[in-house]
Amino acid sequence: MSDAAAGPVLVVSAHAGDFVWRAGGAIALAASRGQAVTVLCLSFGERGESANAWREGKKLDEIKAIRRDEAASAAEVLGAAIEFCDAGDYPLRESDELTDRIVCCLRRDQPAAVLTHTLADPYNGDHSAAARMALQARVLAQAAGYDAPGEPIGAPPVFLFEPHQPEMCGFTPQVLLDITEVFEVKRRAMRCLPAQQHMWDYYTDLARRRGTQLRRNAGPNLGLPHDTLAEAFMRVYPQVTGVLA
Ligand SMILES: [Zn+2]
Repeated sequence: MSDAAAGPVLVVSAHAGDFVWRAGGAIALAASRGQAVTVLCLSFGERGESANAWREGKKLDEIKAIRRDEAASAAEVLGAAIEFCDAGDYPLRESDELTDRIVCCLRRDQPAAVLTHTLADPYNGDHSAAARMALQARVLAQAAGYDAPGEPIGAPPVFLFEPHQPEMCGFTPQVLLDITEVFEVKRRAMRCLPAQQHMWDYYTDLARRRGTQLRRNAGPNLGLPHDTLAEAFMRVYPQVTGVLA
């Protein structure tokens, strides 16, 4: 993400845990460099991604509170601010109001990069709904005539999270981000989410695999350590550059 290295980052997450598994390293890395990172958490994942709590007999409001606390703790560990929309999940319904909330965040933060889900996810319609609203909000936030506070935004690049089953979601790892130096922070953030404990090992293994691929793509002689860890992202818009390098 070299072209977005200096400015604020806005992360649009459908559920309470998504930003941690899929972009925790990117968030921690940006925060460690002094970039302001805001996570906009559209729902708590209370119905669709809290199976253990339901099995334990907990009630909806209780589960929402648990997931909210977990996400807030994880964001704090990563060094990000977090805002909750409580828009409901399974299904997360697309609405003008929720899209407008994202527009307002974009206009306020003027992010240098936006992170969100893939547009396709046959396993989870909430993820693609979040992505559609995030992209629509970016377009609206650019329009001088759109009625929202703040100045229109520029054209921040959008990076899509690696979904749980990338092949099924049309995901290609176009960007491999080296998160080795902040992986312990991501590990601590993941441990803030015991409701989805089965994800801890999965996303640690994935970071190793993407790290191996990062080394291969960085070239054979760069001296990257063998324990390089990475997150993968996919771009929506073309990279803008004056140099092909
Ligand atoms: Zn999710």
